[in-house]
Amino acid sequence: MSRVYNFSAGPAVLPEEVLREAADEMLDYRGSGMSVMEMSHRSKTYDRIIKEAEQDLRDLMNIPDNYKVLFLQGGASQQFAMIPMNLMKNRKAGYIVTGQWAKKAYQEAQIYGEAIKLASSEDKTFSYIPDCSDLDIPEDVDYVYICENNTIYGTKYKELPNTKGHTLVADVSSCFLSEPVDVSRYGVIYGGVQKNIGPAGVVIVIIREDLITEDTLPGTPTMLKYKIHADNDSLYNTPPAYGIYICGKVFQWLKKMGGLSVMKERNEEKAKILYDFLDQSKLFHGTVVPKDRSLMNVPFVTGNEELDAKFVKEATAAGFVNLKGHRTVGGMRASIYNAMPKEGVEKLVAFMKKFEEENA
Ligand SMILES: *Cc1c(COP(=O)(O)O)cnc(C)c1O
Repeated sequence: MSRVYNFSAGPAVLPEEVLREAADEMLDYRGSGMSVMEMSHRSKTYDRIIKEAEQDLRDLMNIPDNYKVLFLQGGASQQFAMIPMNLMKNRKAGYIVTGQWAKKAYQEAQIYGEAIKLASSEDKTFSYIPDCSDLDIPEDVDYVYICENNTIYGTKYKELPNTKGHTLVADVSSCFLSEPVDVSRYGVIYGGVQKNIGPAGVVIVIIREDLITEDTLPGTPTMLKYKIHADNDSLYNTPPAYGIYICGKVFQWLKKMGGLSVMKERNEEKAKILYDFLDQSKLFHGTVVPKDRSLMNVPFVTGNEELDAKFVKEATAAGFVNLKGHRTVGGMRASIYNAMPKEGVEKLVAFMKKFEEENA
């Protein structure tokens, strides 16, 4: 067996320890005689798995009691519709467009009401986060929406926008559990888990209880109502059971590592190794305004498409895989999520140095 250094943006690297444990439990989960995959989601054994996963997530993020944690399906993209369907009481919401995922959410919201673009960084290919300290926000918007870490472009809000008292809704798919957050500043925090937490198929929604109401837009399908999932503790129908089990293992791993403050330090340390190299390199350079750089997704280019392709090819052969940038931006992108060891980043930088020398 040989494992590569996987820099994929998602689905992405998971802690090896978690994968080994899951492998050990594959055929017989703790004496049950079956895999978690084969188990009723209504069984006592599974109930413990999902309850423990929720509690561990609550502990890690310090989630206040007046927030519900929902384990749903449909990916982050389904939330682009579910959020307006459940929260757009005035049929008006503000969107800050900092990348493709924010733009898709903004476009989807237009199906349901008036989505107002409060700010955008599209003028410079989403390479920065706009100043959101004093936005012009209409009084009657139901919420202000952000994508907190822009997976494709590699930017991250270092400060949350001033929503002027309006509910903040954040897509945190690619920075979920990468650092501590103050949950009470948000109305909704959600993300697909396949970036920084677990296998594709699970989306976690952390939502303040007063936002969960019967009062959804007409025609909202039952499955797309937060209330039905909240009232049934994410077991209204069959949840993505195996995926939740793996997420639970990752939560335990994060707790063992020391929690989110420790993860933040580790992530800062890893990102610094890569950014410091990019800042002095004569061949490679980062594409993002330094103050808005993401700790999770690091895009970079050589400035020469052929050389980019050569780099990706040689890196792959050397065991550094999935470094090709998103198809819409080109170049390279190294996603260095929680589960990417520091050693992986150090070795990548050493490889980049060597490539630079050989291609000077
Ligand atoms: C990947 C990603 C999405 C889309 O996730 P799906 O689960 O594929 O729908 C949305 N937002 C962000 C920030 C992402 O990184």
